[in-house]
Amino acid sequence: MKIKLAVIGDPISHSLSPVIHTTVLENLGIDYEYEKVRVEKGGLERFLKYAKDANLRGFNLTMPHKVDIIPFLDEIDEEAKRYNSVNTVKIDGERLLGYNTDADGYIRSVEEKGFFFKGKKAVILGAGGAASTIALKLAAEGAEAVTVLNRTAAAAVVLAERIYSQTAKRILTDSLTAESIAEHCKDCDILINGTPLGMEGVSARFESFSFFDSLKKGALVSDFIYKPQMTDFLKNADSRGFKTVNGLGMLIYQGLIADEIFLDRKLDFPELKEKIAQKLI
Ligand code: NAP
Repeated sequence: MKIKLAVIGDPISHSLSPVIHTTVLENLGIDYEYEKVRVEKGGLERFLKYAKDANLRGFNLTMPHKVDIIPFLDEIDEEAKRYNSVNTVKIDGERLLGYNTDADGYIRSVEEKGFFFKGKKAVILGAGGAASTIALKLAAEGAEAVTVLNRTAAAAVVLAERIYSQTAKRILTDSLTAESIAEHCKDCDILINGTPLGMEGVSARFESFSFFDSLKKGALVSDFIYKPQMTDFLKNADSRGFKTVNGLGMLIYQGLIADEIFLDRKLDFPELKEKIAQKLI
């Protein structure tokens, strides 16, 4: 039987989801259709009718639907509830089941570098959608300390309150400047860029990388960005001898975890990751 899947968002033309999911389905020898559907904000109800009529097995979601989908769901898993954000919906008969695989995808990409968050101190730059999800995950699952630095310091404070109400864990917040990064990264084990600074197509850049002079020796440096694969942030870290990890693994793993949900089976992640990476690089 043909398995039909889709990714929805607006804009959607740039989405790399089809590359990830079609590689998986082809490698498993599954007869499939994978569509990219532009669904404007407010267009979910119409899309959901289509999805059920067309017998879709499920769909991936990107901006602007990750929160708006929630009232339409019949069930939402604990991770998605925690982040108030859904990136994967499985359709089971008439029922819509919502999941979020972003944080688990990120954690997996970092663990594969031999880094485990339990008991570690993390500094996260940014308090947007992706950074908030990771900050919540780390606070909930045993990081010793989480610090969030954001251009709009008030947004980091709001995130800290949300994290406290959900996990009873206090995180530190501050504004995002080269000086504040230097101050907070002195004894951190991982420094994470969750802003778009350095991303292809974004003109804004870090003003200085002098903060790497203060970063604890042996710390891991991570960037959510995957285009370019080596951002200036990572290049600077690498040239100073720090281990680095870019956002490609996060992207691929969130997709592979979603496929395990759609297909209800375990997948060979190392093999599939390699095949997907070859197509994305
Ligand atoms: P978002 O929700 O728009 O959040 C952007 C964050 O970056 C906010 O904290 C914002 O601060 C900050 N920021 C934006 N422009 C800035 C600037 N010029 N100077 C300093 N801070 C700035 O974005 P997002 O969805 O979280 O995405 C963030 C990055 O992660 C993007 O590069 C995205 O491509 C990447 N990402 C990667 C993956 C993956 O799978 N690898 C997944 C998701 C996201 P304010 O609060 O002050 O506006």
